[in-house]
Amino acid sequence: MLETIPKTGSAIGIALLALGDRWTLLILQRAFVLHTRRFGDWSAQLGLSESTLAARLRDLVAADLMERAPYDDNGRTRDAYLLTPRALELSNLLLAIWGWEQASVPGLEDAPVLIHDTCGQDALPLLGCGSCGLAPVTARETSAERGAEAEFARINMPRLHRRAKHSTTPVDALSYYPETMEILGDRWSTAILAASFLGVRRFTDFKAELGISPSILSDRMRRFVAAGVLQTPTSAGEYRLTAKGMNFFPVFAILVDWAQRWYSSDSAHELTIWHTSCGAQLRPVLLCSRCGTDLERTKVHFELPAVTAP
Ligand SMILES: [Zn+2]
Ligand SMILES: [Zn+2]
Repeated sequence: MLETIPKTGSAIGIALLALGDRWTLLILQRAFVLHTRRFGDWSAQLGLSESTLAARLRDLVAADLMERAPYDDNGRTRDAYLLTPRALELSNLLLAIWGWEQASVPGLEDAPVLIHDTCGQDALPLLGCGSCGLAPVTARETSAERGAEAEFARINMPRLHRRAKHSTTPVDALSYYPETMEILGDRWSTAILAASFLGVRRFTDFKAELGISPSILSDRMRRFVAAGVLQTPTSAGEYRLTAKGMNFFPVFAILVDWAQRWYSSDSAHELTIWHTSCGAQLRPVLLCSRCGTDLERTKVHFELPAVTAP
C-alpha cells in the first residue's frame, strides 16, 4: 500500500505509485464518468471489499488525488470524496486510455460512446501537439530526451502489492479491458512500457533501468507478448513494441506530462518529449476526431449502453 508519497525520485515513478493499481484506476474512472463520490456507491459499482475500498481511498487522499468532504447522512456525518485539481487533470489520461481500447481491443460493440458536447458528435480522442496544433501525433514523430540523472521510472516498491487476480475486477461496459489492466493496473508493467517508448529493448537493460527483479520482469514480458503489446523477442533478445503497443503512446505522453507538472522534479531528472515535426516540446492535448477542437473535461460525456446489473 501507498503509505507515504516519496518526496524524491522521478515524477513519473511517483505518479505510477499513485495510479498504477487496478482498483485505483477504476475508482477514479467511476468518479469521472459516473460522478461517484460516496463510499457506498463505489462499493456497489465495483463490488470490491470494504477494506480494499477504504485503503484505496486513503491512498488517493494521501496522494492528493481525492479530498474528503463531509456530508450529512440522516444525522450521521460521513465523508464524500471529491477529485482534487490534480486529479481532475487526469481526465485526458482516462480519455486516452478509452481511445486506445477503441482502437486496439476487438469486440467492443457495447462499449460506452464518447460524445463531444461542443460538436454533438461521437468522437475519438486524437493526440495533438499543443505547440503546433497538429493531430494525430504518433510515437514515431516524437523523440524523448532524458535529463542527466533521469531514472524516469525507477520506483522504490518495497513489499508492494501482489498482483490482483483478473477475476477480482468487475466486468461491465465501463470497466477497463484486460489488456488495459495488463499495462496500467500494475506499476511495474507501466514502467516497462514507458522504458520501451524510450528505446529500451534488451532484457538486461530493462532490469538495470528499472531496478526490477528478473522474475517479475520475465513475468511481465511474457504477459505483454501474450497481450500483443510487445513482439516476441528477436534472436538478439530484443523486445520491440507492436503496432498495438505503439498506439499506447498518447497515454504515455499524457502520463509523463501530468506527472512532471504535478510531482515536481528538477530538470536533471526530467524527461522531455519533443514533437520532431515542429521542433517544440510536445504539450499533449486531446482533440476531437470529428471537429478537431479540444476535448475539454467539461465538454465531454459518455453514453453508456443499456447496462444490465453486473
Ligand atoms: Zn508540434
Ligand atoms: Zn467535436
